[in-house]
Amino acid sequence: MTRTIHFVSLGCAKNRVDTEVMLGVSDGAGWELVDDPARAETIVINTCGFIGPARQESIDTILEMARFKDEGACDKLVVAGCLAQRYVNELAVEMPEVDHFLGSSDMLRLREVLDERAGRILVGDPANWIVSASDPRRLTQRGHSAWVKIAEGCNRRCSFCAIPGIRGLQRSRPLADVVREVEALVAQGVVEICLVSQDTIAWGRDLPERPALDSLVASLAEVPGLRWLRLHYLYPESLSPGLVELLAGHPVVLPYVDMPLQHASDAMLRRMRRGHGGRRIHDLVERLRTRIPSLVFRTTFLVGHPGETEADFDELLALVRAAAFDHVGTFVYSHEEGTAAFAMTDLVPARIARGRASRLMTAQRRISRQRQRTLVGQEIEVLVEGPSDEHEALLDGRWWGQAPDVDGKVVLANGTGLPGELRRAVVTHATDYDLVADLLAPDGTRDAPPSWD
Ligand code: SF4
Repeated sequence: MTRTIHFVSLGCAKNRVDTEVMLGVSDGAGWELVDDPARAETIVINTCGFIGPARQESIDTILEMARFKDEGACDKLVVAGCLAQRYVNELAVEMPEVDHFLGSSDMLRLREVLDERAGRILVGDPANWIVSASDPRRLTQRGHSAWVKIAEGCNRRCSFCAIPGIRGLQRSRPLADVVREVEALVAQGVVEICLVSQDTIAWGRDLPERPALDSLVASLAEVPGLRWLRLHYLYPESLSPGLVELLAGHPVVLPYVDMPLQHASDAMLRRMRRGHGGRRIHDLVERLRTRIPSLVFRTTFLVGHPGETEADFDELLALVRAAAFDHVGTFVYSHEEGTAAFAMTDLVPARIARGRASRLMTAQRRISRQRQRTLVGQEIEVLVEGPSDEHEALLDGRWWGQAPDVDGKVVLANGTGLPGELRRAVVTHATDYDLVADLLAPDGTRDAPPSWD
């Protein structure tokens, strides 16, 4: 009889890839994926343990899923990922309801759990594994889009970040292996690939030939059938001229940059151990915008790091106003053991840190609204994702300036289209983060309103 399994994936896109690998493992073992956790005999929670709020969400989710041991069909609760990797000893004692713990490099060992030949703790050295083209995987992203992890771990030592301790040092995937995976995904119908890792710009530096990121991007952009290629998590270093040219001119490489800048003040960047000052950030943004006028720039900032003064924060706010980024995410500092900042004593009170985050996002909302409005009346290329969350008579899509999961969306109010189609559309309305557009027919005219009979 087919056995049933349910997955909950928390955290970032890298975690989503790991969840998709575990889904591939359970498919290979003949298990049926069910949406309703009450029906699942095994429930797997892929956790995030990066910062306090993410940890809390992971713990709440584990407790919520544990209920199905009494109220549903669940006889096995599995906790995987970063939280298990980081806190397995504590969790093993405090959560007797969890049957198995899988570390962040132990996804393939889910097969041992499903075959009932696993011990309770399967948490190995994080250096043991990095996803490869030969691993099983089932996609979960809408709209024929997929995340591809090109490296694991990180060699930097930013003061606030626990990732190197959880995920280990950087291990890049060989170029040919990434190309093989992308070819296979495109053969399944994927049209958009988003490259991720902890430190994408450093891809290849640990490989024997030390290939540069532009060689990988150039090879992937030539995979027949791939239409959009997007880069995430670029550390703010000077991008090589080759990479800038690809971003500026290759029809498949989107002029979209996701570069977490974290801060703008020299004093804070020094304390954060970022290896550069505010000048580099201003120069980088300016050079990229000059060379690539259509550039869409996403970044994230960290506020409330120990020692951050009001003057430091004002510098950050000034950068946000001057650079007019397209998409901004803000994190409030979380005091994490195992990081350099944990030893710092000049903590910023949580209330002040939260207030700064909210001021920054208020400033950004205004900028975002203005930038969104400039798109009204323009024709854009949209990836149709499928029926809209807003209303069944509408479609959801994204234009190339919006990455999946993190940026807004385009609600397609008029026109018909199939998931995975790249179509032209005219923007009719803009909110702070989303757009509304009408799909154009292939001849350039507006499609007739949809008929959903
Ligand atoms: S580069 Fe990113 S992942 Fe690496 S230590 Fe810094 S913040 Fe953490």
